[in-house]
Amino acid sequence: MVKVVRSFPAPASLAEEAEKKNGRYDKADVIARLKEDFHNKCYICEMKELQDPNVEHLLSHKNGTDRQRKFDWENLFWSCGHCNGIKNNGKYDRGILDCCKFDPEKYLTFQIKEDAVMIYVRDSNNEVHKRTASLIVETFSLKNTGMRTYTSEQRLRLLQKEMNLLYRQLHKVHKNPDSQSAIRVIRSLLRRESAFAAFKRCYVREHAIEYPQLQQYVNIYDG
Ligand SMILES: [Zn+2]
Repeated sequence: MVKVVRSFPAPASLAEEAEKKNGRYDKADVIARLKEDFHNKCYICEMKELQDPNVEHLLSHKNGTDRQRKFDWENLFWSCGHCNGIKNNGKYDRGILDCCKFDPEKYLTFQIKEDAVMIYVRDSNNEVHKRTASLIVETFSLKNTGMRTYTSEQRLRLLQKEMNLLYRQLHKVHKNPDSQSAIRVIRSLLRRESAFAAFKRCYVREHAIEYPQLQQYVNIYDG
């Protein structure tokens, strides 16, 4: 999960639809804007180019009974069906971190060691951060149905693949710290728009001594 810059004002259809009895929060203008603002990447697992994008409500609209939440632009997020399904569990009802308002990299540490995804919270008393970490870990590991076994493993494999791309380029920079071609590729891999950016950015930040020249590409938003 990385910081996302939400665009304003809200898509026009939201206010119009909110006036209707059976109004929708997923009109074409909402979909187009979410896709663009979130770089067509699930905000929870960070998988790119979603085949099954969902409009996800950060705070549940409780089957439409909470109309304010249902049509609130700032409550709408772009996620994959896998993550939306996992988050749709009572234990996440009290909310997770809002990546449009806060920079997750400031509060969470993202790691993958072999087959295990680990998310650490800096403030162990913060329940919102703890729930966020638990949700992200679940999206790579939950196997409570046949389909989830497949979709969780798929995300884990894609994350490993992306990390290997980064490791290969880092190895080049390790051998030649001035390799402009490797630095260019790394810079692109570290963009927030890229797949699984939080994990790659965190790795580079944690290896600041080996890669001082790359730290400028992994800055954290203040706030
Ligand atoms: Zn996802």
